[in-house]
Amino acid sequence: MLSDDEKKTLRSAEKSRNSTCAFADLIASACISKYRNIRGKNELLKETGNTVIAGILIENSESNSQPELVALASGTKHGHKNPGIKDLHAEVLVRRAFNRYIADRILKNQNDKKNIQNLKVHFYVSSAPCGNACIRRWANPKKENWLDCPALPEDNHSTFYGFAKKEGQLALTVKKEHLFSSSSLELNEERTEKNLKNLSLPSGILPYKSYPDLILSCSDKFLIWNCVGLTKIPLVQWLPKVFISSLTVGRKFARPHLSRAVCCRMANKFPNVSHPILLCSAVKLDEGGLDAEEGAKFDEQNYVFIWSEGREIEILFSKNGLRYPDNSLSCYSTEVIMNDLHDVTPVEINIMNDSIDLKHSLKNYLISVTLQFFIFAYSLILELNKYLFLRN
Ligand SMILES: [Zn+2]
Ligand SMILES: [Zn+2]
Repeated sequence: MLSDDEKKTLRSAEKSRNSTCAFADLIASACISKYRNIRGKNELLKETGNTVIAGILIENSESNSQPELVALASGTKHGHKNPGIKDLHAEVLVRRAFNRYIADRILKNQNDKKNIQNLKVHFYVSSAPCGNACIRRWANPKKENWLDCPALPEDNHSTFYGFAKKEGQLALTVKKEHLFSSSSLELNEERTEKNLKNLSLPSGILPYKSYPDLILSCSDKFLIWNCVGLTKIPLVQWLPKVFISSLTVGRKFARPHLSRAVCCRMANKFPNVSHPILLCSAVKLDEGGLDAEEGAKFDEQNYVFIWSEGREIEILFSKNGLRYPDNSLSCYSTEVIMNDLHDVTPVEINIMNDSIDLKHSLKNYLISVTLQFFIFAYSLILELNKYLFLRN
C-alpha cells in the first residue's frame, strides 16, 4: 500500500484541463518537445526539476506555412541586484531571445524589416504569468470548450469594467525577492505582509507601492508589451515594432483573469492596446513526479536556459543572471544586442520616441491606480482594526 505522501508524489504535476483548440496544442507541443530535447542533452538542466518554460513561434501573415519556433527559455527566478540579467522568468527571457532573433535577421539582411513587421507572433507560456493573472477575484472562469478548428480561432475580448480599482484590480505588482540583501527591505516586507494580508495577493508577489525599485510581475510586463510592442525600448531605434497575435497558456489558465491582466485592464485608458487571442493547451509540460499544488520548485533551479533560432543555447546562473561557466555577459543582454546593431541603419526615430513616451504615460497611469488601491487598502485596515478593537 502506498502512503498518502507517496500517493501525493505519484500524482501528476499538472491538473488536467481542456485545450481551446488544435492550434493551441500545436504551439504548446512545439515548445515542449524542443524543451525536452534541450533538457535531454544538458546535465545542468536535468537537475533543475519542475520549471516554467516560454516559447515564441512566428508565422508569415500571407503564407499558409506552419508556425516556426524561434525562441525558447526556462526560468522562475530573479534578482533586482543581479550583475547580469535581472529578470529570469521564462516569459521575460523568451522576449529577450525574440529580440535577439529579430536583431540577427536584420544583421543578416536590413531589408527584412518589412517582413518582420508583418509577422504573426504566437507566445506560449507553460503557466499563467505571475501577478494580476493569478489573482482569482472579480470574475468566475468557465471551463474551456474545445473548438474544432484547425487554424487560429478568432477571439473577441469582452468589454472590461474596472469596477474594483480600489481593490487593486488594475494595480501594478512586483516580484518578491527570495533573498533580501538589505535589512531595510526585510523589515519593510514584514510590515507589508502583515498589513495587506486581507488583500489576497498571490504568493511571490508584492504591491508595487512598497517596492518601486523591484522588478514588475510578468502580468504587468505583458500589459506593457501589448501597449508598446515586444521590441525592447533601447532597441526600437533599430528593430521594428512587433505585437503578440496569440498567447497560449498551460497551467492555471483562467480566461477572465488572463485577459484582465495582459490587456483589458488598459483598454479604457489606452484604446490602442493590442488584445492577443487567448488560448489554453492541455498538453502538459510535466507528465508526472510532483504534486499538483506544488507547482514549480522555485528554490531548486540553479540554472536557466535561453535560446533563439540560429544560435547555440546559453545557460545562465539563476543566482546572478550571468553566463555559465565563466560569468560573462549573455549575448541576449540588451547591451550586447545594441552593440551588435551599431552599424545598422536606424528605423525612423519617431518610433523610439513614441514608445518611450507611451511607456512613461502607461507607467504613470498604473502608478496612480496603484496608489488609489493603497489608500483604499490602508483605510480598510484602519476600519478592520476599529472593528476588532470594538469587539474586544
Ligand atoms: Zn513571472
Ligand atoms: Zn483584452
